[in-house]
Amino acid sequence: MSDRPGYRTVERPALTLADRLVFPAILKGMAITASHIFEKKVTMQYPEEKWTLPEYYRGVPSLVMDDENREKCVACSLCEFVCPPRAITIVPEERPGGGREEKQPAVFDIDMLRCIFCGYCEEVCPEEAIFMSKEYEVVGRSREEMVFHKDRLYEIGGVRKDPHRKWKNADDEARAQGRGHGHGPAQV
Ligand code: SF4
Ligand code: SF4
Repeated sequence: MSDRPGYRTVERPALTLADRLVFPAILKGMAITASHIFEKKVTMQYPEEKWTLPEYYRGVPSLVMDDENREKCVACSLCEFVCPPRAITIVPEERPGGGREEKQPAVFDIDMLRCIFCGYCEEVCPEEAIFMSKEYEVVGRSREEMVFHKDRLYEIGGVRKDPHRKWKNADDEARAQGRGHGHGPAQV
């Protein structure tokens, strides 16, 4: 049949005799199984043993603190906006101390049943506050348990060294201008 405009006919490859028979595939499978008999170890003893993950692995998205235990997130909601499956829910609140305009998240939830681990949230974050972690054990006994709240997201993310020392500089500035004591440690 000739190709119609916009269509391309793909020829189906002809099956060989081995493809048509069942026994070659069975024998091939048995040969693979037999080859494992002489190997020392085949099964990984999970969860005691874990995978060694490659550097580029994208696991659960997580929030990070700076090295002075302050929340880096300013609740700008960019990640919430960009998230394709709408897995993120943020409720902002005023950041205590210092009288500056910055916010922090009162609520920061990620529904792991919706998350597709695309990494857009990490890409878009202007504060380097959200990162794709190496954590891949996403378990829960109910839909509610699969919504990871702020405290759990910080537990996974932990602390990241902040070379910009944004809050330290903001604190120094606030003190110098007599605008209070600056931003206290995170209230997670
Ligand atoms: S990794 Fe993708 S899907 Fe998951 S929370 Fe971030 S933006 Fe949303
Ligand atoms: S994690 Fe980043 S992008 Fe998301 S609300 Fe916080 S500062 Fe904004």
